[in-house]
Formats: sequence, structure tokens, C-alpha cells
Amino acid sequence: MSLPLLIVVDDEPDLAGFVCTVAEQVGFDIEQFNSAALFKDQYTSADVIVLDLMMPGVDGVEVIRFLAGSGCDAQLILVSGFDPAVLHSAQKLAIEQGLNVAGSLSKPFRYDDLHQLLSGLSITPKSPSRRTSIESPPVDELREALVNSELLLYYQPKVGLNGCFIAAFEALVRWQHPAHGLLSPDLFIPTAEQHGLINDLTWVVLEQAIMQCCSWRDQGLTVQIAVNMSASTLKELDLPEKIGGLLERHGLEPSQIILEVTETALMQELITSLDILTRLRMKGFHLSIDDFGTGYSSLVQLHRVPFSEIKVDRSFVMAMDHDPEAAAIVETVILLGHKLNMKIVAEGVETDSCRETLARLGCDQAQGYLFARPMPADEAFQWFSQHKTANPPP
Ligand code: C2E
Ligand code: MG
Ligand code: MG
Repeated sequence: MSLPLLIVVDDEPDLAGFVCTVAEQVGFDIEQFNSAALFKDQYTSADVIVLDLMMPGVDGVEVIRFLAGSGCDAQLILVSGFDPAVLHSAQKLAIEQGLNVAGSLSKPFRYDDLHQLLSGLSITPKSPSRRTSIESPPVDELREALVNSELLLYYQPKVGLNGCFIAAFEALVRWQHPAHGLLSPDLFIPTAEQHGLINDLTWVVLEQAIMQCCSWRDQGLTVQIAVNMSASTLKELDLPEKIGGLLERHGLEPSQIILEVTETALMQELITSLDILTRLRMKGFHLSIDDFGTGYSSLVQLHRVPFSEIKVDRSFVMAMDHDPEAAAIVETVILLGHKLNMKIVAEGVETDSCRETLARLGCDQAQGYLFARPMPADEAFQWFSQHKTANPPP
């Protein structure tokens, strides 16, 4: 069986030679390039690439762009003599571009650091048939799905960190597609947005979520429901009255409903969305700013819109365990949100240590696979029944 291939791209021959020696000891076949331009000309594939960021002529950031453009699936190790912040930014850039970053090393680094990093890599054999992802179904099928009730809701709990009670369930739409099975929203929400179907979809979701909330209430489960709102729904000026009417027909209070809005949604039709959101808040609905930190002009939105809750984006939360800058951002959002009398919810909590850090920082609620994945309504009910003992009296 052939050995996995590791390529070193570094203009310093001594350092490149050192990396090659260690890589051979760990069990790699090695190839060495002292010029990034030559590497770009000759690269076809590799299992691991050790890349120096600072090289004369073509620099490491250009190589990152090149690798992303050529669909490189090798594990990338970045090396730099710059200060750690530059290495960190380059690492983020590579991840953003879809590259598989296995680690980084600041020059000068020790034998042990490199040996440990290389021996810890898990190399999977390359197979050409790895990409089996489903493409978005065509818009006509989505139109039919809306009429044929193929859209259904999964529910994921938001859990209180101080005392661990169940604060709410977020309703997350799924499409039970007759041919492709259960599809996630990323595969059809963009189609709905582009073809003017998103308002119909939002109303289907709102009605289902409200009916579910009533059904649970009748079975003794009183819990808030969060629903995601799209930008174009925030252009309907009569939205507050329409949702208000829907709730009245079902005997529910607006305070039972949390409407989650992303920052990007708010950037469109500024005045109309502000008008609608202010009236929703005045009626007693809770408003949550979703995926906070990833959109445009976050602080302006916090100042302008009467939000009651901030959901810190999972890209920061998931990085907290190993990235002190991400942890500093989460900590700052918690302090800021509390100053503004808002609740803070952390999305994407997957580990105990992340939950512990969030609790220590005073974060109010968390949502993530550590507690439960999104699940069908009956499973959510069972989950609640098993965990409700921790809930405070209503
Ligand atoms: P979102 O509102 O930010 O929802 C949270 C997403 O994060 C969900 O993905 C959830 O499954 C996922 N998630 C939760 N915990 C974890 C975790 O610990 N780790 C990881 N890696 N992921 C976690 P989902 O259900 O695929 O939804 C994706 C997005 O689709 C939602 O992001 C929301 O923006 C949109 N969406 C979902 N339902 C609706 C809807 O009814 N209407 C609209 N307009 N958008 C919706
Ligand atoms: Mg959401
Ligand atoms: Mg979110």
C-alpha cells in the first residue's frame, strides 16, 4: 500500500528539509517545493500540505486561493513567522474558502510540536465518489410541496443555563420530499426566497408552529415557540395584525412566540421592517436577532430594533474551546446584551466544556446538539417530559 503524500511549500530550504525529515519519520511520502509558483504549476493532489505563508513572489495567501479554486481536499498546515494574529486570520481565510485546515505552526517551532501534529492527523483514503450531495429541487416541486403539505417542522430546545430548564422550542422547517426524503432548509429556503414563495412558506410554518403550541398546551406543556422570519416577510405592513389574528383564533398570547430575524434580513427595506418589528414588540411578541455577529452592522441593528434576545452565531460558540478570540467575542456580546436588557442565547453548543464556559460567563440560554438535535414534534414532547422536572413553575 502506498504511503500518504505530504507536500512542503517553503522558500527556506533548511526549514523545508526539517519538515520533510519529521514527516518521513511519521510515515509520509514527501515532496518539497521551494517556490510557490512552481508548486502552483505542478500540483495535482496530496494528503497533507505544509504551507509557509511568507514567500517571495507568490505568497501563501495566493496559494490558499489557488488551492480553494482547484477544489483541494488535502489537510493544510499553515506556517508563519508573523505574529499569531496573522496566522490566525490566514487560517480563518482558508476555512472560509472551504479548505481543510489541520493546524498551524509559528516559526520557530520545535520537533515535538511538528511530530505531534503530523502523527495526530487522520488520513482517509481518497475516493472519487465522495460527493453525493443532493442539489436543490426545482421551484415547481417546491410550489407543489407547499400545496401538498410536504413541509413539516422539527423542534430544537433552547435550554436555560442557569438551572437547566427548557426555555423554548425553535421550529425548524423540513421538506419531506417524495423522492429525496427529508431535506434541510438550506436546500429550499433560497429557492423560496428567489421565486417569491417565502411568504407562503412562512405562513405554513407559523400556522403549524402555533397549532403545535396549542396541542402541547392542551397536553400540559407550556413552552415558547421560536419561528424564523425571512426578509421579505418583514415587508408586509399588516404582518403584526395578521399574526395577532392567527394567535387570537387559537387562544394564544403573543408572549408565547419568539420571532427570529437575521441581521441580513434587516438590511433590506429598513424603514418598513423597523415599523413592523416595533409594532410586533408593542403587541407583546418576543424578537430575537439570529446568527448575531455574522451580518452587516450588528451594533446599528441592536440600537435601532427593539430586540428582546440575541442569538450568538454558532461559528463563534463552536470555536470557543480552542480560539480565545472567539471566546472574547462571545463574552463581550453577553456583557453588551445584558447592558441592553436582552437575553443571550448561544447557538451550536456541542461540548460540556463550552456549556460550562457559557454558564460561567453568564449566558442565559443555549441551544445545540449537546442537549438535543432538532426532532419531530412527538419526540420533542417526549424529550420535554423526560427533562421537565428541572423546569421552574410557570
Ligand atoms: P438557524 O435559525 O440559525 O437555526 C439553527 C440551525 O443550527 C439549525 O439548522 C440547527 O439544526 C443547527 N444547529 C443547532 N444546534 C447545532 C449544533 O450544536 N451544531 C451544529 N453544527 N448545528 C446546530 P437547520 O435546521 O438546518 O436550519 C438552518 C437555517 O435554515 C436556520 O438557521 C434558519 O436560518 C433557516 N430556517 C429554518 N427553518 C426556517 C423557516 O421556517 N423559515 C425561514 N425563513 N428560515 C428557516
Ligand atoms: Mg433561528
Ligand atoms: Mg441561528
